[in-house]
Amino acid sequence: MAKISDFRSDTVTRPTPNMRKAMAEAVVGDDVLGDDPTVQELEALAAETMGKEAALFVPSGTMGNSVSVKVWTRELEEVIIEERSHIYNMESTHMTFISRVTPRPLPSRRGAMDPDEVERNIRKPSVHIPRTSLICVENTHNNWSGALVPMENLRAIREIADRHEIRIHFDGARIFNASVASGIPVKEYAAIGDSLMFCLSKGLSAPAGSLLVGNKDFIDYGRRVRKALGGGLRQVGVLAAPGIVALSEMTDRLKEDHDRAKKLASSISELPGIELNPENIDTNIIIFGFNHPKLTIPVFLEQLKKREILALATRGGIRFVTHKDINDEDVEKAIEAFRQLLAS
Ligand SMILES: *Cc1c(COP(=O)(O)O)cnc(C)c1O
Repeated sequence: MAKISDFRSDTVTRPTPNMRKAMAEAVVGDDVLGDDPTVQELEALAAETMGKEAALFVPSGTMGNSVSVKVWTRELEEVIIEERSHIYNMESTHMTFISRVTPRPLPSRRGAMDPDEVERNIRKPSVHIPRTSLICVENTHNNWSGALVPMENLRAIREIADRHEIRIHFDGARIFNASVASGIPVKEYAAIGDSLMFCLSKGLSAPAGSLLVGNKDFIDYGRRVRKALGGGLRQVGVLAAPGIVALSEMTDRLKEDHDRAKKLASSISELPGIELNPENIDTNIIIFGFNHPKLTIPVFLEQLKKREILALATRGGIRFVTHKDINDEDVEKAIEAFRQLLAS
């Protein structure tokens, strides 16, 4: 059977042989009681890598973001957030469900909110009005086709946050993709946020888990929130161990994923029905509009599936993601399938 080329997401990556080995050999304890040495090693490595005081291993990126919003906000407060962000759109409304705060979504230029507009939307509390207590930023920006949000933009927002004494939570699910694409060290991105979440389970290929980094008080309280949300896990060193491998061995290779995404995007962008500017592909996510005279999106995806190519429909288009388990052959196979199916 031919290999399935799975472009649905970088979450489909399988653990590497080194990860499997690390899992089998992991020294474990009870992490809720605070004595799993492998989790402690991963948290120390994450804090060090991001230049923060402390780190917390969480089961998912969504839980990392939920914990952060919960720690930084109280009821009767409001959070400024980019309108296409993952937190606002794809995390089952935890901002209202768990933290009981209202989101204030703002438009952006490919993920970069206008700093003046951010500042104009900061609200001082009154009997009518909630207090703005948090700004969330995201980089790379998933729903903006993996866009790299410029550092100057993030710095300008940080400056405004400081002036108004507001916290920033940084959704850095793919912060290593951002760093590899921009050449800016992850520590500089992490410095923008009072807290930052990043995923081990996406391009870095670990089977599960994300990390939250911040100051010690944030992490201490976050640990209590994680427990309350049911995220305290016991011998979880078996999952921290591949996370250590992910952080140590899997970050530099992300450039390959970006190069393959660029190749795929440039090769399909001229075909009938495809609405895509390959210059907008900064990292490993390709989102394109699809408007073909003969094929609908579901039919086209079905035809691809028959050729053992998987991708997802997204709002107004189709999404392809490159990752460790996509090689040059998968990209060639996809380009060939596009040419055959879309040729007029
Ligand atoms: C995937 C993702 C998350 C959430 O991570 P999960 O582990 O899937 O819960 C958060 N933010 C962004 C930008 C993501 O892409």
